[in-house]
Amino acid sequence: MRNIRILLLVLLFGLFIGCSKDSDDSIEKEEKVVDKSANLQGTGDSANDILSNDKFTKLLIEIAYVDGFEPTEEAMESFVLFLKERTFKQDIELKYTKLESPDEENLTLEEIAELETDNRTVYNDGETLAVYIYFSDAPAEGDDEEVGLVTLGAVYRNTSMIIHEVTVRKLAAQRLFVTDADVENSTLNHEFGHLFGLVDLGTTPVNDHEDVVRDENGEPILDEKGNTSGNSHCNVDGCLMLAELQFNGGFTNKSSSLTSKGTNAITSACSLSGNSLLKLLDSKTAKNGLPEPPNLDSECLLDLKNNGGR
Ligand SMILES: [Zn+2]
Ligand SMILES: [Zn+2]
Repeated sequence: MRNIRILLLVLLFGLFIGCSKDSDDSIEKEEKVVDKSANLQGTGDSANDILSNDKFTKLLIEIAYVDGFEPTEEAMESFVLFLKERTFKQDIELKYTKLESPDEENLTLEEIAELETDNRTVYNDGETLAVYIYFSDAPAEGDDEEVGLVTLGAVYRNTSMIIHEVTVRKLAAQRLFVTDADVENSTLNHEFGHLFGLVDLGTTPVNDHEDVVRDENGEPILDEKGNTSGNSHCNVDGCLMLAELQFNGGFTNKSSSLTSKGTNAITSACSLSGNSLLKLLDSKTAKNGLPEPPNLDSECLLDLKNNGGR
């Protein structure tokens, strides 16, 4: 009898060890499944995957926001509509993640990328393409409010974007008829235009309409061979991807991101300038006094169609 009891105990113990070992294994397996590499590519590298349904049929967008800096519902609705109009993705899910403030006076791109590493929970999985957008309570490093040079948002990877929500709200407050939603929506759509690969940033232009890198006086900057270089923006007046919308008139350009490719420095393909966007919204103000959101011109639309979009 005593032997049987011992045998039972041994068996039970064995069973317990077996079970706990199994659960350890499954945790390990779960961790291995998350492959982040597909979401750590350069801006525009996933243009075709975002526009077409060839590889991915669903778009999962994580809206990570610092508590109190959530984007307006109105802007998110228009943004999803914009995505459905320009891409073949009709299954689009927004996942809201509330975050603590990092308590920073301003944020560099490196800090923004680090925060993403800590906080991002969505990555490509099967037929789902994941995008991460961070709504921050801190402005971009280098903003100069006194002379009106402020950054609203930036893209720095194939599926990553930052919106400086604190700056968006300050800017919208400067105009009676411009709402937070107007500025949020224009910023989201412009920066997402770069994730679509505009202009010549992963989506080859059908006709040449890319603007060139210019100096402070608006003159094209030439290299040693006398050639201009493109600045990833559009040269058609009134277009959502217009070059003037870029912070500092577009000094962050392709050549600078090329030189830093060898190092692991994070560069932004575009930082959206607050004042330029206000100017564009002013010029788009309709007769009823309300601003109309800037749209893509026919050249940009043609490029998207040609690379798998609508
Ligand atoms: Zn841009
Ligand atoms: Zn355009």
